[in-house]
Amino acid sequence: ATPTALLVGTGRGAQLGILIKGPEVLESTRAVDTVVLDKTGTVTAGKMSLTELHGDSEVLRLAAAVEHASEHPIARAIVAAAGERWGELPPVDGFRTVEGLGVVGEVEGKTVLAGRSALLDRHGITVGDKFARLKTAAEDRGATAVVVAWDGEARGVVVVADTVKPTSAQAVAELKALGLRPVLLTGDNTGSARAVAAEVGIDEVIAEVLPADKVDVVKRLQAEGRVVAMVGDGVNDAAALAQADLGLSMGTGTDAAIEAGDLTLVRGDPRAAVDAIRLSRRTLGTIK
Ligand code: ADP
Ligand code: MG
Repeated sequence: ATPTALLVGTGRGAQLGILIKGPEVLESTRAVDTVVLDKTGTVTAGKMSLTELHGDSEVLRLAAAVEHASEHPIARAIVAAAGERWGELPPVDGFRTVEGLGVVGEVEGKTVLAGRSALLDRHGITVGDKFARLKTAAEDRGATAVVVAWDGEARGVVVVADTVKPTSAQAVAELKALGLRPVLLTGDNTGSARAVAAEVGIDEVIAEVLPADKVDVVKRLQAEGRVVAMVGDGVNDAAALAQADLGLSMGTGTDAAIEAGDLTLVRGDPRAAVDAIRLSRRTLGTIK
């Protein structure tokens, strides 16, 4: 394409709410055949709320006390729900995040854990049949179940759920109509990821991926000969956005995402990813 055509394309992108880093970005978009969509914050709104509590009220109170020190959307949902009931939460000592697994901290002299089953496994704590069943049932509905333990024992399950963005299913259908393969990528559990994928029409799911490994998933797809566009919000996926042949960042995401991406989708609407790919095909196809 001529430089003029690329500049016209760039200008048209701005009208569509797509900020393009440089005219050359449109060239690299042409060969894309696979679109990896991060689940949380891209396909879903990334705003979670508490939907179920299994166990007594101490489960929510102590989980919230630990989660208070975390910025994860799961943590925000738990803290908000506890805040409505108690207002103030007890302080946490020795807080730490275990990447992709959950959080640990000391509250009122107890070591409290909140997160995936694997987090409890690491501390030699068994989840138990009852909580395991409740957890699986919640995940099959597309929710995320947080197991809460203290004093070496599993005490309850807190369930939080996100909502799928109203335009995600349409965006996926349009990607498919363009001949592209959508892939859902997430650190979340497989059950929840599959439920969300089914809701929006994605067949290929890569779940339970640790934050640091998202970039390797993109590399693996590229090694298979696929040309990969990655759509993410920068929470855990900035490196993957940078590795992708085309990185599309949600404008509603973090500054890291906007830096790592080639394109920014200003409104945070996944349909803009389709617009971006269409725009580049049109720009490069009509003017040689
Ligand atoms: P995503 O790819 O959806 O952004 P993350 O990699 O951030 O997911 O987290 C993966 C999983 O780790 C979550 O689905 C959750 O089960 C667990 N997890 C992460 N952070 C927390 C937290 N603060 N509290 C409880 N569980 C957490
Ligand atoms: Mg994320």
